[in-house]
Amino acid sequence: MICPKCHKDNPTINLHCDFCSEELPLSKERKEIVLKHKKVLRQDKWQKTKDTLVGMLIAITIIIIIIVGKALGWF
Ligand SMILES: [Zn+2]
Repeated sequence: MICPKCHKDNPTINLHCDFCSEELPLSKERKEIVLKHKKVLRQDKWQKTKDTLVGMLIAITIIIIIIVGKALGWF
């Protein structure tokens, strides 16, 4: 994406110019690319959150089992 103000090349998904902060015009085609990219980013973020939550749950379960097990004399 060539900036209309400074004429430097920017990545297609940029909404603003990296060099002069000028707003880049959004064609219909580019809008779709930007929206798709945002959607992928959101999905990635949610997937990472889910992975973290599952990992934490497993860790908490293990800790609880160890604490309960020790209290009941399992180990
Ligand atoms: Zn620019």
